[in-house]
Amino acid sequence: RCKATIMDGATMARVEVRIAHEVIERNEGSSTIALVGIIRRGETLARRLADDIERIEGARPPIGSLDISFYRDDVQRAIAPVLHATNIPFDIDKRDIILVDDVLFTGRTVRSALNALMDYGRPQSVQLAVMVDRGHRELPIRADYVGKNVPSSHEEDVRVLVRELDGRDAVEIWTG
Ligand code: 5GP
Ligand code: MG
Repeated sequence: RCKATIMDGATMARVEVRIAHEVIERNEGSSTIALVGIIRRGETLARRLADDIERIEGARPPIGSLDISFYRDDVQRAIAPVLHATNIPFDIDKRDIILVDDVLFTGRTVRSALNALMDYGRPQSVQLAVMVDRGHRELPIRADYVGKNVPSSHEEDVRVLVRELDGRDAVEIWTG
């Protein structure tokens, strides 16, 4: 059942614009940046971030994607992130790469994304943007841009809904 709604669609839209401004400020414009979204909701959010950056700066940053999801055992426990596919159709050398995901939890997916990225070249920097940081990190990884910090218990599920895939925008906490 849904325990709480953390963000509605209007709030998410404002958060996305705020993160676009933060990315532009930190990188002194958008000319050096490229976005890499983690499929599927991270990629959707990366496209929106590109839209917002284009609206503000007048140029659209390149976008790539990584398909990384957790391998699960037969009782659906998450075991390890697995890289299924990569799509980085630009040269990452000397670029500031903004990795985008919906939820940051243990940090294992990001670690795997960093490994995959490093096979493509040598970026100037890699920065991490997430809609929700739900805590419980198991690795020394942190996000540079956070939509909202949502302290959660291990049992809870944070649902990031996006209209492109779910028909509406919202962030909800589900239990049980
Ligand atoms: P981590 O690798 O940091 O443990 O988990 C992050 C990855 O798993 C992200 O790609 C994210 O999509 C997914 N994930 C982990 N926990 C949640 C959660 O509570 N809700 C959602 N929507 N995704 C989660
Ligand atoms: Mg994911």
